[in-house]
Amino acid sequence: MERMAFQLPGGFVDDEGLVHDRVILAPLCGFAEKMVAGRNGKPAPVLVTALLSRSIEKIGGIEQVSEGLVRRLLAGDRLFLLLKLREMTFGRRIEAVIRCSFPDCGARADIDFATDNIPVSRSPQQARWHKLQLSPQAGGLLVTFRLPNGEDQEELSNLLDSDEELAADNLLARCLQSIGAVRGPSLAEVAGLPAAAKAEIENEMERLAPKIGASLAALCPECGRSFTAAFDVQEFVLTELHTRLDLLLKEVHYLAYHYHWSEKEILGMTRENRRRYIEVLSGEMERLHHAF
Ligand SMILES: [Zn+2]
Repeated sequence: MERMAFQLPGGFVDDEGLVHDRVILAPLCGFAEKMVAGRNGKPAPVLVTALLSRSIEKIGGIEQVSEGLVRRLLAGDRLFLLLKLREMTFGRRIEAVIRCSFPDCGARADIDFATDNIPVSRSPQQARWHKLQLSPQAGGLLVTFRLPNGEDQEELSNLLDSDEELAADNLLARCLQSIGAVRGPSLAEVAGLPAAAKAEIENEMERLAPKIGASLAALCPECGRSFTAAFDVQEFVLTELHTRLDLLLKEVHYLAYHYHWSEKEILGMTRENRRRYIEVLSGEMERLHHAF
């Protein structure tokens, strides 16, 4: 498949304040699969950064898209691009297994839906820094903050598993530019904020951020009740991409053996193309086999 252009739901604001929101994406190839398969144990946001920096050819007027730049993209924009990459590489149809959310049932259910059913809530960005006047109950100060990005996700992914509250304070400390007269507040200063202040800032961040739907309406085949199933786009795409390394190596071997292509040439192909050639080859082998 050819490269495609997409409009980011949020947008990247560079150091000069210019907004870049049109992205040119190339589909994933074998190199990306090899990388995901071989980087077992790396936090998911680190893999997403590596995948996106390989696939993004351009963001707005920026033609050199480094990992550093991909880390600075908003969390929702990264998830959006990951979903688009998935569509370009494997199509729009998603088949997943979920569990009925009623504790007295918990039956497994197969769901089948199109990626278009995942809602994207757009929030075009105009500036990197946002201002919020806290309510009197929350201390009444004026705060300036930016929205969470990929770097925050990478830095905090381990902490998020062990101490959610500390991770939330860390995120605020990273994103807050000022609280009242305090510029660049420390973690201790952020941790000391009233709970109402933290909640107001977090709600405002959530309101201003571009978002990709994380839940789906489902009907349980066992108990017949409808429920809302959590669907983690990032987890799903990374798991799906995680072709076992040995299977990928077998495909490379098979094609190299018969076509005499180099590993580099084969890994440069998309999975779809590799499998198409393998199908043609095995059909041919079958035909030859019967001819003798
Ligand atoms: Zn059920």
